[in-house]
Amino acid sequence: VDAPEKPEIKGKAIPGIKNIVAISSGKGGVGKSTVTANIAGSLANMGFRVGVLDADIYGPSMPIMFDVENAKPITVEVNGKSKMKPISSYGVEILSIGFFTKPDQAIIWRGPMASKALNQMIFDADWGELDFLLLDLPPGTGDIHLSIMQSLPITGAVVVSTPQAVALADAKKGVSMFMSESINVPVLGIIENMAYFTPAELPNNKYYIFGENGAKNLAEDLQVPFLGEIPIVQSIREAGDYGRPAAFQDNTVVAKVFEEVSRNVV
Ligand code: ADP
Repeated sequence: VDAPEKPEIKGKAIPGIKNIVAISSGKGGVGKSTVTANIAGSLANMGFRVGVLDADIYGPSMPIMFDVENAKPITVEVNGKSKMKPISSYGVEILSIGFFTKPDQAIIWRGPMASKALNQMIFDADWGELDFLLLDLPPGTGDIHLSIMQSLPITGAVVVSTPQAVALADAKKGVSMFMSESINVPVLGIIENMAYFTPAELPNNKYYIFGENGAKNLAEDLQVPFLGEIPIVQSIREAGDYGRPAAFQDNTVVAKVFEEVSRNVV
């Protein structure tokens, strides 16, 4: 199949936004949204101005993870134009496709429709000044990704995977999608999530539940940076459900893990 023509808009700088980092995964459920929320938290802790655009049309998670489930963005006038105001939570600016759907409502988005909605959330929103806008992409490598990647000026992409073979196979497809001629977005690297589990009563043991070093090895094979590993920790899951990403919990081991990964991303 011929590569589709690139729309003009690609590369159009968004005033005030220095970097747009796309966070993706080949498969669903590997922790892409959890990692996005926590990188946002760590970057905000470091003093960066951060926004998150939750573009996961299949299951937007940011409203729950940032405890803004019932928020409805208001419209403000900026230089005579109506702009959507992102919702601020823990100092992170958030827009989610979930703010515009009814709870429990499943929406079947077609590629052009989804990318139009996302374009509006980027170009017709009053993001203010941001160092980083993190884009939580839907899992996979579908036509929605194509249209998003081709219409937005993405600085770079991060791929999240567990070390499990099936997840790695899909992560590999994700990396090649970004590297393909028609998309051509720099791959900042791979993050291994759910790398291992350490029970509280056996603090020196690591159990490699999904396999060992899978994502690290994949990064080496594909010659892209390895950005770090995140263990399976109950408090990471709990913090997400509670609506305050673990990265905001001062001086915990988990917050330090996310800080280290985030330093490798920027
Ligand atoms: P995705 O965005 O890839 O679909 P989620 O971020 O929604 O994945 O994560 C899937 C589930 O796994 C969620 O219940 C989340 O709380 C949990 N989870 C993700 N990463 C971790 C981790 N490192 N430790 C514990 N639980 C995790």
